[in-house]
Amino acid sequence: MSLERRLPQVIPGPCCGETQRVVMESAKTMKDSGIAMIRSGAFKPRTGPGYDGPGTQAFEWFRDALVEHDVTVATEVMLPEHAENAIQVITGGDQEREIVVWWGSRNQNHIALQDTARVIKGVPAWFILKNQPWADERHWLGIVDHVLSTGFPLDRIALCHRGFHPNGSSNERGLRNIPDWEMANRVQEKTGLPMIIDPSHIGGSVDNVFSITQDALRNGFNRFMIEVHPDPSKALTDQRQQLNFKQFQEWLKLVQ
Ligand code: PEP
Ligand code: MN
Repeated sequence: MSLERRLPQVIPGPCCGETQRVVMESAKTMKDSGIAMIRSGAFKPRTGPGYDGPGTQAFEWFRDALVEHDVTVATEVMLPEHAENAIQVITGGDQEREIVVWWGSRNQNHIALQDTARVIKGVPAWFILKNQPWADERHWLGIVDHVLSTGFPLDRIALCHRGFHPNGSSNERGLRNIPDWEMANRVQEKTGLPMIIDPSHIGGSVDNVFSITQDALRNGFNRFMIEVHPDPSKALTDQRQQLNFKQFQEWLKLVQ
């Protein structure tokens, strides 16, 4: 399997892979729609204390999704130990199996980021870097520089724009985070890296996810990571913004 296959145009999946059933059902349904990679959080860093995800046990479910459905599961890691564990459990030492991990926007510990990059640069892996919550181009570029300073290969990094905190802006559409398409464009040009758009954490609601996707396309972006849950009304995180499978089929028509 080539790494190219590992970074498809669309990476849909639950905010959080809360249970084995949510992960496996998502993998199977998405596979049937021709999707090769899903997203699924194992750790959910939160604004206030609450449900914070299934943790490393979810890596076993991700391995099962790969083995049983041939679907790669991209997931957030917060510490180098998580990356070590993901490699061990998901690949089991098999160099044919790649991992795809992302660094979340709320995790601005650049020492842990560098150590994580050092851990995964030794195996076939994609590292997706989400922007930090506040609008600062230098900081965003600094995230990339921290990873590159470890010798991490440029051709295995992708960026993800998930918007910036509204921070008192008028925000008439009620977005959860505000996109900066121009900055995203500049960062893409300066780094030469692929830019994935996360309309879910920008939009914050199903309606906004659709309209933000159209905005992204108009601004020249066509890669997406999007939250889709088998039953959003029962999701333990980000209920309002997750699409169900039927809504996802509608959404796919926008981007294909
Ligand atoms: C996520 O993608 O699951 C997530 C928590 O997003 P962010 O880090 O952008 O808030
Ligand atoms: Mn989410």
